[in-house]
Amino acid sequence: MAVSTPSSNLFQVPRFCPNPKCTHHQEIDNKTCDWFVKRGFFPTQIRGKVQRFLCKACGIGFSSQTFHISYLSHSDVDYEQISTLQRSCAGVRQICRAMGITNRVYMNSVHRLARNNLALFDLALADWQIKENAAMDGFESFVVSQYSPTNVHLMAGSKSQFPYYMDLVVMNRKGRMTVKQELHRDMLQRHWSASTTGIVDSCRILFAEVLPMLSRYTPGEPWILYTDEKREYVTAMKQVREFKKKLADKSVLHIRINSKIDRNLQNRLFAVNYLDREIRTTSAGHVRETTRHDREVHMSECRMMIWMGHHGFFKKFRIEEKAGGIEDLTHAEVAGVLEVPGVKEAKQELFTHRHLHSHRKSQLSWITKVWQRETKNPKYVDFETGKCKDKGQLGNGELARHLLA
Ligand SMILES: [Zn+2]
Repeated sequence: MAVSTPSSNLFQVPRFCPNPKCTHHQEIDNKTCDWFVKRGFFPTQIRGKVQRFLCKACGIGFSSQTFHISYLSHSDVDYEQISTLQRSCAGVRQICRAMGITNRVYMNSVHRLARNNLALFDLALADWQIKENAAMDGFESFVVSQYSPTNVHLMAGSKSQFPYYMDLVVMNRKGRMTVKQELHRDMLQRHWSASTTGIVDSCRILFAEVLPMLSRYTPGEPWILYTDEKREYVTAMKQVREFKKKLADKSVLHIRINSKIDRNLQNRLFAVNYLDREIRTTSAGHVRETTRHDREVHMSECRMMIWMGHHGFFKKFRIEEKAGGIEDLTHAEVAGVLEVPGVKEAKQELFTHRHLHSHRKSQLSWITKVWQRETKNPKYVDFETGKCKDKGQLGNGELARHLLA
């Protein structure tokens, strides 16, 4: 496998000034090279000589390393290998052992990879017009413990099975429980509980944000959204006035499918059933009845993004011997999103370049939520004592600013 070690040669001509306030910050402004000057080198142990630059407009200094995915990291990690192991059902410790890296380096790399995948989806979907019907479903898993189940909302193209949307919602545990389990649930809820309207809130945002992607659809040729019979979808649709209007004039149809019917190719929820199965079989954190599960929401979201990036942009449509047909294309090619200007380049730079939040093209809030780590973690409660310590709660540590910006 090609090792994506930093190559300073890649960034000998900087595309933009890293200062968000500078007039040369947006790439579009920087077609010429006269906005910066080269300012010598500095030596590093693992990367050799690194070129320094100076922006003539704002006077800020930076280096070729500023644009690399490993910016401010002292480890050279093969990001492509992390992505491969991640979807091969390897657990965190297995990945660390196989790659000879520590847990901290692994987590840091996952954040970097996730933001690059987010940037790829951001660019692809910023002005996107959906060209196919879609199916939507909630993928069920959990973080921290089974007392904090998660529902990951996924919307995928019916034809392409390209994932257009992902939002993780943490919920409270419901359903049948033993007396002891109820006791544990109550202990947790004394310290922490999830929003009871989480699913409706998440769906409402999805329906509002999918609207601009549907302008080609008319009452004669409607866009069809297939979901299961969960009541929350209907509630959320009613809360988005424009979406409700489209349902009324029949330029959008909502078709509910019983989730008990066979999960085969003919099932109109196939696209999301397929994602569900793929996540379940390739991600260690979501395998049924496993000792491995996600310990905190941000890593869970980041890993889901890396999975989505691979599924959408790299995985072949079907693993078939015959070449040249639709089977040979990626899901992004079938959906058409690879034709969006800049997306092919962003895909090529997935494992090497550093993408910035300030360069985002879309306003999609599910992308902001993951990138800026807005989801709140459930608390870890010691069920022996019923106590919940402030110290040692997972996922609440500070993340370096350069990983959020
Ligand atoms: Zn500048």
